[in-house]
Parts: sequence; C-alpha cells; structure tokens
Amino acid sequence: MIRFDNVSKKYKDGTVAVKSLNLEIQAGEFFVIIGPSGCGKTTMLKMINRLIQLSEGTLFINGKRISDYDIHELRWNIGYVLQQIALFPHMSIQENISVVPELRGWSKEKINKRVDELLDMVGLDPGTYRGRKPKELSGGQQQRIGVIRALAADPEIILMDEPFSALDPISREKLQDDLYDLQRNIKKTIVFVTHDMKEALKLGDRICIMNGGEIVQVGTPEDLLQHP
Ligand code: ADP
Ligand code: ADP
Repeated sequence: MIRFDNVSKKYKDGTVAVKSLNLEIQAGEFFVIIGPSGCGKTTMLKMINRLIQLSEGTLFINGKRISDYDIHELRWNIGYVLQQIALFPHMSIQENISVVPELRGWSKEKINKRVDELLDMVGLDPGTYRGRKPKELSGGQQQRIGVIRALAADPEIILMDEPFSALDPISREKLQDDLYDLQRNIKKTIVFVTHDMKEALKLGDRICIMNGGEIVQVGTPEDLLQHP
C-alpha cells in the first residue's frame, strides 16, 4: 500500500532527516513509527502526503509513485491528524467535519448523515455536539473531532502525528482504546507517530523503531518484546 524505496530527505539547511529508508506498510495495517525527538518521524509522514519533497528515492502508494498523483487526489485519500488540535475555532463541529466532504462535492444530505455517524462512532451525541464551537468541548473531545474529521471523506490512509500527546493520561487511554476499536472496524491503513513505547505496543500491528533518520527495527509487538 505505502512503499518507501530508498527514500532520503535532506532539508535546505543540510540536515539529513531520514536516510535510505526501505519500508512497506500493508493495506489495513496499524503501523506505528516510534523514536526520539528529531529522528525523522514527522518527515516521513509529511513525505507521504507530499507536504515536503523527497531528496532521493521513490515513494509509492498502491503501486503508483506519489509524484504521479494529482495532488488533490492524493490529499483527499489521506487524512492527517496533528498533535495540536487544529479545529477552525469560528466554525461549528458540524462545519469542521464537513470541510473535506464539501470540497469533494458531497451533497448536504450525505454530509449531514456522515457527520452524525462519525460523532456516534466516538461516543458524542450528534444532537448535543453538532452545533457547538470547538471551545465548548474538552481537550479530549476536541481531539476526537480531530480524528473523525480526518476520517470524514473516507480516505484510505490516515496519518497521525502524536495525536494524543497533549492529553491528560485518562483521556489519552480512553482515546487509544477508541482508536484501537475504530481501526479494527474500519480497517484503514493508519501510520501513527509516537515517542511512547507503551502506546506503540498497545496500538500497533507493527512498530518501526527509528533513530537518527534510520530504521533500527520493524516488527510486531511480540517480535519487539522477544528481541528487544
Ligand atoms: P512551513 O513553513 O511550511 O511549515 P518549514 O520547513 O518551515 O515549513 O517547517 C516545517 C516543520 O518543521 C515545522 O513544523 C517547523 O516547526 C519544523 N522545522 C522547521 N525548521 C526546523 C528545524 N531546523 N529543526 C526542526 N524542526 C524544524
Ligand atoms: P521527529 O518527528 O522524529 O521529531 P522530524 O522529522 O521533525 O523528527 O525532524 C528530523 C530532523 O530534521 C531533525 O533533525 C529536525 O531538526 C530536522 N528538520 C525538521 N524539519 C526541518 C526543516 N524544515 N528544516 C531543517 N531541518 C528540519
């Protein structure tokens, strides 16, 4: 589904963020990238949705080079969830979730139905929350909206960059549990960045350990626990 073929990234100032990555992420897989700050995790995500360009190598999605995709087609097919909650403050929850489906030209009816379905999926009553503004929600609730907004137009791939790290431990565990259940139901390909090994072991089908821009080890949680 996502394949890194000898991919490197060197930023303009000369920083080599990732070096000669070879990696294949399967369709429907919950794939976790873990490693210390600065090891290249965010760079990997940003290359997948073409927020930054590769310096060397090739990145494929479904067998097609990402450079050969129309940029809108590519981005529509990829949801992105960031650490900082980036909901539009002046817009209601309903409007926030509707942004991408509207860009894609979905009918009002289809969008409204989708919004309610997504709110239900994460345990927020649509009647209560649809019309609220982001600031009328708790941090954990806002982060839930961030997650379902990325799912709204039914992308094949969801990139998540430390989505829960700003939350208190209890909300964090609850959201991890919810995301785990959600992914097992919807079977999307998730690439999830964290620096928390407990989170990685709990969520990942496979975990990729990075250090200094290079892959140290890739394996299932069981593999990693047996051969640390
Ligand atoms: P943009 O301005 O489009 O966000 P940048 O290249 O300036 O693009 O930054 C991309 C991301 O990388 C930002 O999150 C930024 O904070 C971070 N960043 C920029 N320069 C550095 C750097 N030298 N070291 C670490 N992170 C950086
Ligand atoms: P992580 O997500 O693992 O913290 P990043 O991918 O953000 O790591 O950064 C990898 C390396 O690239 C770091 O050394 C960082 O300082 C550097 N870096 C990130 N963004 C930029 C940028 N826009 N310009 C220059 N260096 C950057």
